[in-house]
Amino acid sequence: MSHVFHRSLTAAYPVAVGGDGPYLIDASGKRYLDACGGAAVSCLGHSDAAVIAAVQQQVGQLAYAHSSFFTTEPMEALADFLVARAPEGIDSVYFVSGGSEAVESALKLARQYFVERGQPQRRHIIARRQSYHGNTLGALATGGNAWRRQQFAPLLIDVSRVSPCYAYRNQQPGETDAHYVARLGRELEQQINELGAENVMAFIAEPVVGATSGAVPAVSGYLRQMRDICQRHGILLILDEVMCGMGRTGTLFACEHDGVTADLICIAKGLGAGYQAIGAVMVSAAIRDTIRDGSGFFQHGHTYIGHATACAAALAVQQQIEQRDLLANVRAMGDLLQQRLRQRFDTHAHVGDIRGRGLFVGIELVQDRASKQPFDPALRLHARIKSRAMQAGLMCYPMGGTIDGQHGDHVLLAPPYIIDSRHVDEIVDKLGMAIDACL
Ligand code: PLP
Repeated sequence: MSHVFHRSLTAAYPVAVGGDGPYLIDASGKRYLDACGGAAVSCLGHSDAAVIAAVQQQVGQLAYAHSSFFTTEPMEALADFLVARAPEGIDSVYFVSGGSEAVESALKLARQYFVERGQPQRRHIIARRQSYHGNTLGALATGGNAWRRQQFAPLLIDVSRVSPCYAYRNQQPGETDAHYVARLGRELEQQINELGAENVMAFIAEPVVGATSGAVPAVSGYLRQMRDICQRHGILLILDEVMCGMGRTGTLFACEHDGVTADLICIAKGLGAGYQAIGAVMVSAAIRDTIRDGSGFFQHGHTYIGHATACAAALAVQQQIEQRDLLANVRAMGDLLQQRLRQRFDTHAHVGDIRGRGLFVGIELVQDRASKQPFDPALRLHARIKSRAMQAGLMCYPMGGTIDGQHGDHVLLAPPYIIDSRHVDEIVDKLGMAIDACL
């Protein structure tokens, strides 16, 4: 019997013992093509020599120094690297150990910013119904996945929610992108007015929605409109790029695609690519200056802020992505993956939608293509597809989400940026077999 309190206390997990580029290897020697990067984490695959060397070098020199006593060279260098490439207005980085911590920190930064600006009444957060922002209490309260929140609801703060930008389900027939964006903008403004703009602290959104609905990019113009509305009302825009950031969609920050910046941008996953646990909040100059010139101290903190080895790993990961021009490969392989998935599934009775950007691709499964009726959750389709794919040596990320109150199933693909066309073919073949075997 395992003494680990595993995610599932009934599942029997294979033992992962090694990695080889985009493959994970278990104790029996079986190889699994990691077509989801675990949970969109392992963007460089599992055996990158340069990152391994950087980690070894840093551990040998200085593994860790507490951030209330010291700064370190890797922490400073990583912050310089990220700020130099960040969207306009961002000028500092608050380091944490993962995505939920990044979201918690962003929410608290937003709150402290307004307290220090003499607007302590600004406390409301507006989020979207189709969203996932993490599992710690603040992040969980913010996310829109009702199933994840349900049993913890008595512990959670109140968060207001508006519709996501989810064209496949919510854009009406004949409605142009511009009209759809305008409709969503009116809904956000209405929510702001109901709460009183002067009471609203932040609007939070994932530029490309990840875990809740499977790589759903917003339609053109949406992010810009949301940014404009927030600015008009003095509300902070928090972009959660924990899953879609760090090159996953073909640009380093996903919001670059829309030419939009934010006040706070949360990143994690692809930042350290799984070689170390690290996340961060990219912070605007306005927020940093307000706190620096006010109390001078952000009243928050974790033991592993700016962990030296984690920062060294993340810097090496980001340098590898840049030096090897891997974002060009993300765009090319992402296009190829969507093209091959369309060839394989376009006439499939139960594949309702294929969407995404870069190597961040979602496939939505439906009972009926015409009505878009989701499957019954009791079928546990996502669990069966995952298990079939693992049998075939493929890691993919099927999820059963809640689509505006209704259950829905999708498969998320987020393979490493180093894949080539043979890997794309292997993903499509094995995923096709797994889906066919379950439907
Ligand atoms: N935000 C988004 C958009 C995510 O996808 C996730 C994780 O999947 C998180 C936050 C939470 O990150 P973590 O699991 O590292 O705490």
